[in-house]
Amino acid sequence: MANRTIKMTGKLHDYLLSVSSREPAVLAKLRKETGKLQWAQMQIGADQGQFMGLLVRLLGARRTLEVGVFTGYSSLAVALALPADGRIIACDVNEEWTAIARRYWAEAGVAHKIDLRLRPAVATLDELLRNGEAGRFDFAFIDADKANYDHYYERCLKLLRPGGLIAVDNVLWGGEVLDKTKQDDDTNAIRALNAKLHGDDRVDLSMLPVGDGLTLALKR
Ligand code: CA
Repeated sequence: MANRTIKMTGKLHDYLLSVSSREPAVLAKLRKETGKLQWAQMQIGADQGQFMGLLVRLLGARRTLEVGVFTGYSSLAVALALPADGRIIACDVNEEWTAIARRYWAEAGVAHKIDLRLRPAVATLDELLRNGEAGRFDFAFIDADKANYDHYYERCLKLLRPGGLIAVDNVLWGGEVLDKTKQDDDTNAIRALNAKLHGDDRVDLSMLPVGDGLTLALKR
């Protein structure tokens, strides 16, 4: 099938950013600090952060979920786009990385918008469901351990209102979804969720070649 997606060279991507990126100084500073870490490639791009902020505004989101915080770039991008009374419930298990996130949330003046839950995300999401929070969230970003992606998706879908949006990160997994010799849990979980969402009539769907592949699933 004809590929109508433009080939994104490094220079063209630099141009794209030069005429569109409005990365606030605090996010640029966080990007730089995270760039020094061994796992720096886990940080989303400035273009993706800005896109997610736009989605949050488009949805008129007030209550959002984040599964996988890392050093806080995406949660900060979302928090800056939320209204003053907006809230994020942010799930992660890593104290060291989220300590960096907390520092930047405070610096940006949005720490009060972000409720960090430091334990396995499934436990946090199940607790929200037990507490009657189903249907009460507007947006969810899933970007944590890939082996649990389906567990996160199913719970976030329940927690979202109709018309709420789930964004799933790394759905093209560096292209490894195509490599049949890759049979590890992470790669297989991404393939399985991609196939499932393709036929999932609970959502409207779009998979975008943004970053490492970003699926948008709009709850019907
Ligand atoms: Ca990611």
